[in-house]
Amino acid sequence: MSTPDPDCLFCKIVAGDIPAEIVAETEHTVAFRDINAQAPTHVLVIPRVHEPDVASLAAAAPEAAAALLVETRRIAQLEGHEAYRLVFNTGAEAGQSVFHTHGHVLAGRDLTWPPG
Ligand code: 5GP
Ligand code: ZN
Repeated sequence: MSTPDPDCLFCKIVAGDIPAEIVAETEHTVAFRDINAQAPTHVLVIPRVHEPDVASLAAAAPEAAAALLVETRRIAQLEGHEAYRLVFNTGAEAGQSVFHTHGHVLAGRDLTWPPG
């Protein structure tokens, strides 16, 4: 569902009910620093609408999904990086802990591949 989920942490950040270190906002997205940064730049880019993962977002609101992807590069560049890693953990077994779509924008250190 795209409507806000009263129990969702990131819907509360979108609404301003929980504080976050906001980096940028657009019509479709909010970008804020991860509370447990894994790189010098670690920004979460989320849609304003509540969808649990990026594929669901793309199916339900393709314009918001596209805007989110475009925004990830703008955020990296705002932070001074042309190269960055974009991660969407999808499903609990893959490390997803918040079920409101979020892209992790990671940059500012050597990022190994394959990831751990
Ligand atoms: P996931 O594990 O779902 O891919 O990513 C969730 C991310 O949200 C984690 O990297 C975690 O550090 C971050 N996070 C969890 N709670 C908060 C919070 O209250 N504020 C912020 N800014 N980040 C959070
Ligand atoms: Zn939500």
